[in-house]
Amino acid sequence: MKKSISQILILASFTIWFAACGAVQHFDILIKGGIVIDGLGQPGFLADVGIRGNRIEYIGTKKKTSGSTTIDATGLVVTPGFIDIHTHCDRGLLSQPDNKNYILQGVTTVIGGNCGGSPLSIKDYFDQVKTKSISTNIAVYVGHNTIRQKVMGQEDRAPTAKELSQMENYVDQAMKEGALGLSTGLGYTPGMFSKTEEIIALNKVVGNHNGMYASHIRDQGLGMYESVEEAIRIGREGGTRVQISHLKLSIDKLWGETEQLFQIIEGARIAGIEVYSDEYPYIAASTGLSVIFPAWSLSGGKLKEHLQNPATREKLKKEMFHTGRMKTYRDRDMLSALQIASYRNNPEYEGKTLREILVLRGDEPTLENGAELVMEMQSKGGASCVFFLMDENDVAAIMKFPFNMIGSDGSVVRFDRGVPHPRSYGTFPRVLGKYVREDNMLTLEEAINKMTALPAKSLRFNDRGVLAPQKFADIVVFDPKTIKDLATFDSPHQYPTGIEVVIVNGVITVQDGTLTENRGGRAIFGPGKVSLD
Ligand SMILES: [Zn+2]
Repeated sequence: MKKSISQILILASFTIWFAACGAVQHFDILIKGGIVIDGLGQPGFLADVGIRGNRIEYIGTKKKTSGSTTIDATGLVVTPGFIDIHTHCDRGLLSQPDNKNYILQGVTTVIGGNCGGSPLSIKDYFDQVKTKSISTNIAVYVGHNTIRQKVMGQEDRAPTAKELSQMENYVDQAMKEGALGLSTGLGYTPGMFSKTEEIIALNKVVGNHNGMYASHIRDQGLGMYESVEEAIRIGREGGTRVQISHLKLSIDKLWGETEQLFQIIEGARIAGIEVYSDEYPYIAASTGLSVIFPAWSLSGGKLKEHLQNPATREKLKKEMFHTGRMKTYRDRDMLSALQIASYRNNPEYEGKTLREILVLRGDEPTLENGAELVMEMQSKGGASCVFFLMDENDVAAIMKFPFNMIGSDGSVVRFDRGVPHPRSYGTFPRVLGKYVREDNMLTLEEAINKMTALPAKSLRFNDRGVLAPQKFADIVVFDPKTIKDLATFDSPHQYPTGIEVVIVNGVITVQDGTLTENRGGRAIFGPGKVSLD
């Protein structure tokens, strides 16, 4: 939209004339009288925010302003829209473009394609997004597991030179089509069958496009430190920034060791590698049931066979809660630590712990019977679960870590279906309600920074994540006195309170806490995007 010289001159003289007359400055949307927290971490200040089209035009305290739509933000806080740095929303956004459980949290941009799983063709995905009227912006990583599955299936071996080059080509293509970088899920199949060198080779391609490497690390249990080191090495040798996904101490033996963890990340930063982490504000994780099976049983895609073979079944029964990922060191009740989120085969189990299900069936609640139950559910199609594995003190310490961002690790959910992890409904209001207002763990400005400018910086989103003139108008207006998550582990299908207005690219999408008819979301591309227009 180029303007001719004469148009610019006319525009300029009008502006001077208006200024001289002290005329009223008019905006499409004017947010009046709120406390502006710009996202960069500095103290909030009283100001009005003027929006024209899809950009912020004005932040200030002039008397003579007006808006086609005026929002009274007295007593409320005005911040950049939240960027959820770690989600799996790419899956659900096409079928539920309203993305209600995120937009009602104040999230204006969701980052998908995490933990190694993404659309294989980023172009096809964005082509589909274009046909939908989405409420939030979406950007995606390309997933290593997705690419490896396509090229090598579930093979538990290193790739041949030809296979590696095929995978490199997929990554290169994805980056040119607008992926943010590469995500891995090294705790899942088939990513767990890959060696570090394979990921480094792929990440070098990402580095050529100035992308990011996001890592669901190989071992979130006892091998956590080595796994964080591995992720950093992949970033260093690939020449990329690094994001450690859903950072946590999820094995009780390591509880309380956050300082050691931070030292590794800070050491890498001092050495010049830009490392970040993200975290969701809960003491439970959530993923598929299969993660609790020992690595040998998943190798080569043979779990089904092992579950049908009495000998290996017996071995699994002995090992499941006594070695590997589910082993505990502090006498914890693991049968109560595992809650079923969704199980198609028998929805009656949803929302119940293994212990409760065993009791319901009249079985004795022993670890061996728990293992039998898990194997039975896995044989009958698998289940998704919530795992209570973390310690609250560690969750709070990681949240305060200066390079840690907020990421829900959730998805677009279907209202009232199953008993999913509450993070998909409550992550952002929970940080602002519980950790800022109630527990005083961090200031409002610090928390907002971790939800806006910090993720924008990490992803090189140069015109989002900060409230300033010329930035895109992704904005949240909320009440710091009432903002609160309501979703719980027993009753997760509840939207938060306190979010009054959400604006996406200048479109008012939430007003008075409810969804409007208007949608402003769009695809956001990574730094390697090649324009095909
Ligand atoms: Zn993950």
